[in-house]
Amino acid sequence: MKILRAAHLGMCFGVRDAIELALDHADAGPLTILGDLVHNPTVLSALEAKGIAVAQDVADVNTPTVMVTAHGTSDRSLARTRALGLRVVEATCPLVTVAHRAVAALARDGYHVVIVGQRDHVEVRGLTGDLDRFDVVLEDADVLALEEHPRIGVAAQTTQALEKVRRLVDLIRRRFPASEVRFIDTVCKPTTQRQSAAVEMARQVDVVIVVGGRSSNNTRELVNTCARYCARVHHVQTEADVRPEWLDGAEVVGLTAGTSTPDDVIGRVEERIRLRADASAGQVRQAEAATLK
Ligand code: SF4
Repeated sequence: MKILRAAHLGMCFGVRDAIELALDHADAGPLTILGDLVHNPTVLSALEAKGIAVAQDVADVNTPTVMVTAHGTSDRSLARTRALGLRVVEATCPLVTVAHRAVAALARDGYHVVIVGQRDHVEVRGLTGDLDRFDVVLEDADVLALEEHPRIGVAAQTTQALEKVRRLVDLIRRRFPASEVRFIDTVCKPTTQRQSAAVEMARQVDVVIVVGGRSSNNTRELVNTCARYCARVHHVQTEADVRPEWLDGAEVVGLTAGTSTPDDVIGRVEERIRLRADASAGQVRQAEAATLK
């Protein structure tokens, strides 16, 4: 059995830099991260081992310094945190900052802002946190529920699949032909690269294994995309989730991973797939030998 890795997979520069920044600051003094720095349990355990605290609410912070995650936050939220006397370290990914600027420009130019993304995702809360009026859409039904505005400005959560975003923008245009609809593409390049590479890989394999945190948006999008090109797609967080029966009869197994998945986790999943394949090949050989006796 062959394992085919997607040409682009795994941790992006934004997540890598945020983890490094957290570890540097943890060496300098007590640090609390506001929310999950990344949606990956393995990375979060490593940070915890360094004594870094995680709080979901600023009211629960017991250290003088807090870190905003790579997902970013709104200016209003930053101001509220600083008003509590906390020092703020920002690990916001530069590509999330680009998305913030796009949203601010749309609002400044009088567009009603529509974000394509997950309403409750921390990045989307950050993108919309400085707006008084906005909408968030993820499915066709959300677009059908929108109200008409003379100018509609659309931007996306950075980890959405661009193909899906474009489809929803087209739907908005068709639904409101009299409105001026402006779209700024804020999907980040690492997400687009991983999506395209996943399509390329999924077309050539019998089974796809996607590695990433259960609550990671871009990992879920990779699963959805691969499922359009391959009937057997499985999402795992670690090598412990790999089930031997998934590999039954597979000649080529494809591997991809979300932007918050560390290289060593991907490596261990790959190794587990290889071991499972070797074990079942051994069983086949034993069974064949037994029938010859
Ligand atoms: S997924 Fe994109 S926006 Fe998010 S941290 Fe990585 S590079 Fe930045």
